[in-house]
Amino acid sequence: MTKGQAKREVARLQKAFELCQWDIQLRCVDAVAVDADGGDGLISWDSETLVVFIDIAIQSPDEDVRSTILHEMIHLALVDMTEAHNKVLGLMSLEAAELGKATLEQVNEQTTVRLTRAFTNLCAK
Ligand SMILES: [Zn+2]
Repeated sequence: MTKGQAKREVARLQKAFELCQWDIQLRCVDAVAVDADGGDGLISWDSETLVVFIDIAIQSPDEDVRSTILHEMIHLALVDMTEAHNKVLGLMSLEAAELGKATLEQVNEQTTVRLTRAFTNLCAK
């Protein structure tokens, strides 16, 4: 997939998920740079500036790139929930917060994977 195609896919999903307040910067990176959790992408954001960086290994097969973009955009769609969790964790003791953070990150990732699969299946029909 070209960077232009990947950008158009991001724009399409940004509109569909009503995330137009975000300035999404797509960065095409080496697969090695994003494979920490076995995926082809990474997302980071700044809620103050509303800037989002999505790092994608676009040299992967198109279907994988499309799925990765969807996965990262679902993470962005869940950002308010993620930030609410982080606020609550900030009120807890360090020990409890560390345990809570690991649990919430795991549930967030599982939910994102489940939603990515569901959207992909729904769109395939
Ligand atoms: Zn993820």
